Amino acid sequence: MERGILTVISGFSGAGKGTIMRELIQRYDYFLSVSATTRSPRAGEVDGKDYYFHTKEQFQQMINGGELIEWAEYVGNFYGTPKKHVEEQLAQGRDVLLEIEMQGGMLVKEQFPDALLIFISPPSASVLRERLMGRGTESPEEIEKRLLRAVEEVKYMKDYDYIIVNDELEDAIKKINDLIQYDHYKACNSALMIEKMEREIREICSAEGRVNHG
Ligand code: 5GP
Repeated sequence: MERGILTVISGFSGAGKGTIMRELIQRYDYFLSVSATTRSPRAGEVDGKDYYFHTKEQFQQMINGGELIEWAEYVGNFYGTPKKHVEEQLAQGRDVLLEIEMQGGMLVKEQFPDALLIFISPPSASVLRERLMGRGTESPEEIEKRLLRAVEEVKYMKDYDYIIVNDELEDAIKKINDLIQYDHYKACNSALMIEKMEREIREICSAEGRVNHG
């Protein structure tokens, strides 16, 4: 079985990533990696489902123990991707989604050059601000920090493979799913298929006494 596709999905806070991720995992068989974080749980968030909520010390231990694929600081808290489940699922041929910020996305690309990097953008900056304010999960100060962070993050957009504008939810979900599914056809994700063809062609040629030694 071919390895699964590792997809990084990033976007500014308020771009609508959360909703898109929820829909993707509900509709399709993607494995969504649960990150570790030092941020406090929001109302309704469940440990082990939304995040693994850790103290700074616990998080540092994970870094020291080489348990994270990547980690980054975001607006005063640490966030990181635990390695174990991601590796296991990819090896089992399951497509894995990482919903992480852009510095982490770049680190994943270094370690997994074949990873697919998708950036979700709102149609405009004013829509971004409206969405951040409208969801009511952050204080005005936190919203301000997240918007300031977006000024830094916008620089990373060009380093992503695809930019999906989240204007219409259904459309964005479909496009992201299509991109991941098409990625399976890439030669770099078809190693076993290529090996099989090589083997079979050699077998046919040698059976017919036509092995090319050139
Ligand atoms: P939030 O606090 O809104 O849940 O997440 C804040 C930011 O951290 C979001 O941009 C989210 O994508 C990012 N994030 C979540 N998990 C990880 C992770 O494991 N690694 C990195 N680098 N960023 C993460």
